[in-house]
Amino acid sequence: YRIQVLPIGDKFKEFIGVVTLIQDITKLKEIDEMKSDFISTVSHEFRTPLTSMSMGTGLLLEGIPGPLTENQKELVEAMKEDQERLKNLVNDLLDLSRIESGKIEMNIRGNELKKIVEESVKAFEHQAKDKNIELSYCIEENLPLVRADFNKVSWILINLIGNAMRYTPRDGSGKIQIEGKRTGSIVLVSVSDNGIGIPQEYRKKIFEKFVQVKDREGNPTGGTGLGLAICKEIIEAHGGQIWVKSKLGKGSSFYFTLAIEKS
Ligand code: ADP
Repeated sequence: YRIQVLPIGDKFKEFIGVVTLIQDITKLKEIDEMKSDFISTVSHEFRTPLTSMSMGTGLLLEGIPGPLTENQKELVEAMKEDQERLKNLVNDLLDLSRIESGKIEMNIRGNELKKIVEESVKAFEHQAKDKNIELSYCIEENLPLVRADFNKVSWILINLIGNAMRYTPRDGSGKIQIEGKRTGSIVLVSVSDNGIGIPQEYRKKIFEKFVQVKDREGNPTGGTGLGLAICKEIIEAHGGQIWVKSKLGKGSSFYFTLAIEKS
């Protein structure tokens, strides 16, 4: 059952009572599970043909069946790019459906946040240099251990840093900073950039599946629109929260919370 308690007010917006809504959501849950199973099966079935297609294009580009003309090479390269995009989409969909259905086990234990951050930042050292973006991190001294699944939280950071990289200028002014500090009984982690920012109306929605901010021409901006939805699922499985603060044209800061491991 889903129980919702909704406050009600009179015409002067004064609080006058509550309405309690009790809904039987068994059917909804069943449909949701069917949907998850369907997505998981379809994504799985997509993987095998995709792998063989991508092997084929790889061989063509290496010139193994014979040399390609410049025009043919361009065409095969475009095909390879689309295959990569499709592969990412299928992998994201699989991850999401596994997390949603609770099929991915969370290995939540006491971990050093600094180690998780270091590991995630390492994955971007080359990209940051190539794109001329300053990537740095600052983790408070003597931070207690956080309750986290090392690989999953690293996955979140990699996603947030990857997004920040994508939407930050490459003219040498781009900066991305990761911070970790204790606030009360939790640890707050943030990934901030000084990139394009996110319009107000999207700030909540981007954590939903397939939501992408459209660019000026009305096209979605690369990616799959699943990364932040997966981040949210993972953080919620940790009992934490994730949100964003942003100023259009100035940059964005993504925040998430982790619990402290009791010693
Ligand atoms: P995608 O695969 O499209 O990056 P995400 O779920 O990770 O999917 O992000 C959803 C959308 O949120 C992106 O398409 C982008 O429009 C916006 N977004 C995410 N991170 C940033 C950022 N750091 N700066 C500006 N826009 C962002």
